[in-house]
Amino acid sequence: MRREARSCGAPRGRPGRRWLGAGRARCYRLRIGTKSRPAARPPSASLPVPALPAVHEAAAARLRALQQRYTSGRRLLVEALAARGHPVAVPDLLAALPLTAQSSLYRNLSVLEIAGVVGKVQGEDELNRFELAEDLIGHHHHLLCRRCGRVDDYELPARIERAVASAIPELAGSAGFVVHGHRLDVVGLCATCA
Ligand SMILES: [Zn+2]
Ligand SMILES: [Zn+2]
Repeated sequence: MRREARSCGAPRGRPGRRWLGAGRARCYRLRIGTKSRPAARPPSASLPVPALPAVHEAAAARLRALQQRYTSGRRLLVEALAARGHPVAVPDLLAALPLTAQSSLYRNLSVLEIAGVVGKVQGEDELNRFELAEDLIGHHHHLLCRRCGRVDDYELPARIERAVASAIPELAGSAGFVVHGHRLDVVGLCATCA
């Protein structure tokens, strides 16, 4: 699990997201209720602070809809996920939230997942990792390391993303499938394991 804490190009401890092919880290962005592409941030930039209140607001509203409270433990969990900028496994979350019992972490993850605040990503090591829901942080894909299980986020350049998004309904439509979105996992070895 320690391996996940390694930097993926951004300075250690700073959220980072890869651009596939570009080989450089990009700052993690938080996005609420908009399809527009946010402005690029330098890799050294820290979490965009103004976005976090919007994430909290969305999380509180989604929990309220389920008659669930946005407790301080859930807030801290959302902040821990926002700060990491890539899917995080439970042991890493427990390390980041030392005052949280494992049982409440699992319960909070489950409630936040049902509420649509948190999404689950399974690594190649079969370990579940958690991240904020895609509509909160923006559309992206995952790089899965077969050796250490690490999962990183990456974004396709807009031109390729558009090509993927238009090709998929065409392919799936012939099978009568109604497309709601897509996930594109890249499986291989991370830079450390390669
Ligand atoms: Zn690896
Ligand atoms: Zn995509």
